[in-house]
Amino acid sequence: MVPVIALVGRPNVGKSTLFNRLTKSRDALVANFPGLTRDRQYGEATLGDRRFMLIDTGGVNGDEEGIDEAMAQQSMQAIDEADAVVLMLDARAGLMPADQGLIHHLRSCSKPVFIVANKIDGADPNVAMAEFYQTGAANIYPLTASHGKGVRKLVEDVLELFPEAEEADGPGAKATGKKIAVVGRPNVGKSTLVNRMLGEERVVVYDQPGTTRDSIYINYEREGEPYTIIDTAGVRKRRSISETVEKFSIVKTLKAIDDANVVILVMDGRENVVDQDLHLLGQVIDSGRAVVVAINKWDGLSADQKNRIKTELDRRLQFIDFAEIHFISALHGTGVGHLYESIEKAYRSATMALQTRRLTMILEGAVHDHAPPMINGRRIKLRLAHPGGHNPPIIVIHGNQTSKVPGSYTRYLEKVFRRELDMVGTPLRIEFKTSE
Ligand code: GDP
Ligand code: GDP
Repeated sequence: MVPVIALVGRPNVGKSTLFNRLTKSRDALVANFPGLTRDRQYGEATLGDRRFMLIDTGGVNGDEEGIDEAMAQQSMQAIDEADAVVLMLDARAGLMPADQGLIHHLRSCSKPVFIVANKIDGADPNVAMAEFYQTGAANIYPLTASHGKGVRKLVEDVLELFPEAEEADGPGAKATGKKIAVVGRPNVGKSTLVNRMLGEERVVVYDQPGTTRDSIYINYEREGEPYTIIDTAGVRKRRSISETVEKFSIVKTLKAIDDANVVILVMDGRENVVDQDLHLLGQVIDSGRAVVVAINKWDGLSADQKNRIKTELDRRLQFIDFAEIHFISALHGTGVGHLYESIEKAYRSATMALQTRRLTMILEGAVHDHAPPMINGRRIKLRLAHPGGHNPPIIVIHGNQTSKVPGSYTRYLEKVFRRELDMVGTPLRIEFKTSE
């Protein structure tokens, strides 16, 4: 599984600058989760072909009271969720009491810690480093986050602690079926839904490391089809229903999304759509996973209420018009069986075999019906389309001036491909290559 790195340090030392730099290449993946935290950001990043997850924290000041107390809490939680911690110091400001407090705390937390002297561009490196080394740190990384200097070396060293081979024994390795992640905010009914989905099936829950960051993987069969539920709510780990539910963990949710074939995003039909729902959906789409939306607690609502909610959903979920929406009651089981129809359709769409010949024919048809625009008096030419990957499906289009293809035309092509390929419930990525 992907390693998780937390960035901690006082406010203003440059954490967001580093975060933005590292997640920039895929900045659509940067998710902010307001409501949950004052100021904690999650993002995915890559270095070469290695992927990792970053958590940016608000910052710790030292005299933690009021809002600072809350921010310190966030940092501690981020450290808790992370595999490694990058502690940032400000080389221009020198060593502050709050830095020492953090270093002290990190010594007792048994996670690998990398200490960074940022803004080294604005300081005398020798003086700054000497001061920081007084903390007893074995190694300090000089960094200019704003220019990216020193970033590669730092990240390479962090990632070296997490060999890729680890993926092979991750919890997902034992999954025997299509992997379905059940995700959503706290209290929307995930546990109830997972129990309902597993209700009559014979399930196999295998022993797993019990960290709060890890979901439970449950293998089962339904009508002869093997599935694996990735249970972020930790249902089957609880000995009884009354036992307290685990803390909602965003890292766990993001990892479950990442490892799934199809995500069931559960929302509470009795509440308005909140930002956190939308961020989770955005996350699913950015990660390229197929998705089925389940609006839960649909029991006992009046026709009026139902209409109002549906209108709101239509408006706010426009950006995932490719996903199928189900109105269910996990509590009573209503509509749960039908979820599988959408799961199957989404899975099939996400993993379907695509052939160059067929894709190119669809492309030609689309271009024939509606030609791409002229750029500087020359028409954009799109010649060939071939498959570039599955789950999410990627279609690579070759032609000239492809960097000039307007977003509206890309969306048009996406619509045509979806229609012709009968592709439902999965994001579709269109990439352009230029042949001149
Ligand atoms: P955060 O509060 O720790 O997230 O800090 P920010 O990333 O918001 O950075 C605080 C300020 O420091 C901003 O004005 C940045 O432009 C600046 N900054 C960040 N990194 C560097 C650096 O390497 N060199 C210099 N000179 N300034 C930096
Ligand atoms: P989780 O935190 O997302 O796992 O949510 P739970 O499954 O623990 O459910 C939270 C609360 O909502 C519990 O009190 C459930 O009984 C209730 N609940 C779950 N599904 C439904 C439903 O379909 N209808 C109604 N009325 N209540 C539900």
